[in-house]
Amino acid sequence: MVVNEKVKLAITVASLVAATVLFVAEYRRRRRKPTSSPSSCYLHSDKKPQFGFKRILADNSYSGFKHLKKVSSSSTDKPSNCHPYETEITALLENPRLDEFEFLRGEYSLEMSESYVWVETEFELEKLAETLAKQKVFAVDTEQHSLRSFLGFTALIQISTQEEDFLVDTIALHDAMSILRPVFSNPDICKVFHGADNDVLWLQRDFHIYVVNMFDTAKACEVLAKPQRSLAYLLESVCGVATNKLLQREDWRQRPLSEEMVRYARTDAHYLLYIANNMTAELRQLGIEDSSSPDDKFSFLLEACRRSNMICLQLYTKETEDFPGNAAASSLIYRHLNGHEDNSSISLDAKFQELVRELCAWRDLMARIHDESTRYVLSDQAVIALASKQPSTSEEIYDSVAQADLASESSPSAVICSHLDDVYQITQHKLGKLDVILPLVLDKCLGTDGTCPISVFNYSLLVNFNTKLTHRSAPKKNAHKNLKRFTRKTSRDLFVKKFSCKAPVYHNCRIYANDGRLLCYCDRRKLEWYMSRGLAKLVEEDPLAIMLLFEPKGRPEDEGNDFYIQSKKNICVGCGEGNHYLRYRIIPSCYRVHFPEHLKSHRSHDIVLLCVDCHEVAHAAAERYKKEVATEFGIPLFVRRVMDSKEAQGAECESTGESEDAGVSPLHLRTAAMALLRHGNRMPSSRREELLQTVKMYYGGRDITEEDLEKALLIGMSPHERRKLERKKGVSLKQENGTNDADANSFEEAPPEGDMNGESSVAGDDSGGDGAPELNDTQCNGNILHQQNSKLSLLGHGPHGKQVVEYLLKEYGEDGVRDFCQRWRKVFVDALHPRHLPGGWDVTHSGRRDFGEFSVYNPTKKVSTG
Ligand code: AMP
Ligand code: ZN
Ligand code: MN
Repeated sequence: MVVNEKVKLAITVASLVAATVLFVAEYRRRRRKPTSSPSSCYLHSDKKPQFGFKRILADNSYSGFKHLKKVSSSSTDKPSNCHPYETEITALLENPRLDEFEFLRGEYSLEMSESYVWVETEFELEKLAETLAKQKVFAVDTEQHSLRSFLGFTALIQISTQEEDFLVDTIALHDAMSILRPVFSNPDICKVFHGADNDVLWLQRDFHIYVVNMFDTAKACEVLAKPQRSLAYLLESVCGVATNKLLQREDWRQRPLSEEMVRYARTDAHYLLYIANNMTAELRQLGIEDSSSPDDKFSFLLEACRRSNMICLQLYTKETEDFPGNAAASSLIYRHLNGHEDNSSISLDAKFQELVRELCAWRDLMARIHDESTRYVLSDQAVIALASKQPSTSEEIYDSVAQADLASESSPSAVICSHLDDVYQITQHKLGKLDVILPLVLDKCLGTDGTCPISVFNYSLLVNFNTKLTHRSAPKKNAHKNLKRFTRKTSRDLFVKKFSCKAPVYHNCRIYANDGRLLCYCDRRKLEWYMSRGLAKLVEEDPLAIMLLFEPKGRPEDEGNDFYIQSKKNICVGCGEGNHYLRYRIIPSCYRVHFPEHLKSHRSHDIVLLCVDCHEVAHAAAERYKKEVATEFGIPLFVRRVMDSKEAQGAECESTGESEDAGVSPLHLRTAAMALLRHGNRMPSSRREELLQTVKMYYGGRDITEEDLEKALLIGMSPHERRKLERKKGVSLKQENGTNDADANSFEEAPPEGDMNGESSVAGDDSGGDGAPELNDTQCNGNILHQQNSKLSLLGHGPHGKQVVEYLLKEYGEDGVRDFCQRWRKVFVDALHPRHLPGGWDVTHSGRRDFGEFSVYNPTKKVSTG
């Protein structure tokens, strides 16, 4: 070991010295190189292997990646770009095939023989597919090339069976790789990988190959809590084989592969079956040692298996950003400024930053046009060098780049060399500002007399580019910032458009008593109700007002309910925003639906209009307070969604509250869904996975569709809006027009429904303002609603609301409920400091009112007051 280390050190030092000598020589050579810009692009003479590919699934345009669509799949309700084998993988997650974890049969020698099969023709690939179709298991690894390609491509796939090692030349066979799709997606064949996270995505990206049934030895390491998870570690500790992982970074486009590279590549797949076999034995053993019940003995194996197949569910996405090169530019600027806190003059910063952004945008576009990595086009340190030196001649530009990249033999890149003029113009600010540079450059390169060849990689860039950039209304200054603001504003506008009330909520029609005193403001429908029954006469046309022809019970102001005789503005009570608003329920419905009928009546007092921003603030505060309530009363809170009657029967409606982990807060749910819908395809996959988990938890762990996300968004919306949306989609929650006439005597304009629905009749779905529709006992035990409509969103905090209200009533009677309401009003006011609450609105609003004979709220009629 010690000797080994010394040798390694010596080699390192020697290589460093050699490298330095080479760099200096190279630098001198480059300095002598003429830097006048060539008239034509290097791609006319430099033939890169990928230009022979005919079928490109992930091109270099800014548009998203399209996943394989299975023709056989009959389900039309699946979203367009979902995992084509989601069902199969989910089935494996639910029913792992433990009996099949015999990775080796009969005689097996660890030795790697001299012979292997090089697969480079379609015929050979067909043979391989036939061979693999007969296997129960095979091992896989892939090698990528990423420097001279924008998205990278798979240059080699290594496949090993117990008998043979195959090296598949995926450059030669790029367009024929679909031949291997069936074996990879066959759930009866287990594919062993090590650290498959990237491999599964690469296989999707290049070949629409999806892995179903996988055992990942890195995941097994995780479950076994091995000290290391690298393949090199396993090779050494399990097989006693040393491997030089530095070869990983070789240029895998090279043909023929060197002997060393072949050996390395084979090693990466050859031993995997043996390693997997050992590890499953270990996992089983651990299960037996650890478990008390015999059924548990596979739990470690199960877990490794589950984690492996989770990887298969990952979907490849192209990274997107608000503006080309934006992310790279921001991180470069951030890193640079952090490194130079002390001196750099502020005046220089603005210019420096602008140049960094322009160069990053240019580099991004050039990389896409030429199918190169951005780091190949222009390295980060070269961007910094150019932006800080701001060279004024082409020669100076070339020298700055060469000097910044002394260590890299591919710099200055062919792109820089043949497009030096662009860089010159950018540094001289001759191309204009950021937002005009890109269309200009694209036109220069790929336009009618463009300098660069059009390829399968950049063609759709040309087609899609205009739509990507012409939407922008960004003024010249701070284009990227404006663009960001612009996109944020657009998505907010969309949100508002989708969910806010479409018409004024308050019609502010008036009802007078027959003595001329104002009874209330209300909506048009309520007026019509009285008019059509001859119970009132019209006294004013505009704004509409009627006078009742009978003697109503009581007068609002006599009861201290001034609130009801105030006209109400159609604005956000929080900030006064008048262009959009949605209804917000101050008392969360999960409690209110369980109030005695006559205490529910004051909905117009406790339902207000809020703009989306205030809505979010109020909603968040309410969610926090619910948690406090849960703690205070010792009645836990959770939401979960039950999908349909079948699932509902299986799903327990625990009332014990042990199920915190089976639920998710509505706020989390909504923000996760929102983020996924808005940015899902451009966020890092780890973040996406995290958010998906939140939403999945809500959906009982099953996989989710875009439609699910949209539904999750509605959590926190007003029930009225939600119903409207559901109606639009053809899903009706319940009978809307029941006999509500009994409500006629409740004199108030009720924002939640905007109509004359009595609360009693809407109780079942009266549930959204607080983000927590109910899952009440009837629904839970009887499945009544599930059977009525399987698509119904039945979610809530379980029995929390009901139990809290029952407790309040039992301990303190109705006063307890009134106090509880006051607490919620206070939470609302404290969170929002609303400046536009209607006159008469009051935290201590008593809710004591008289009810007409016909009113459902009439306590003498329905509920006996305690
Ligand atoms: P492996 O999983 O070790 O077979 O690596 C597969 C491919 O991932 C390689 O061909 C490389 O293109 C890429 N890769 C993995 N790790 C690195 C690394 N540390 N540096 C550069 N490329 C890497
Ligand atoms: Zn070019
Ligand atoms: Mn490898």
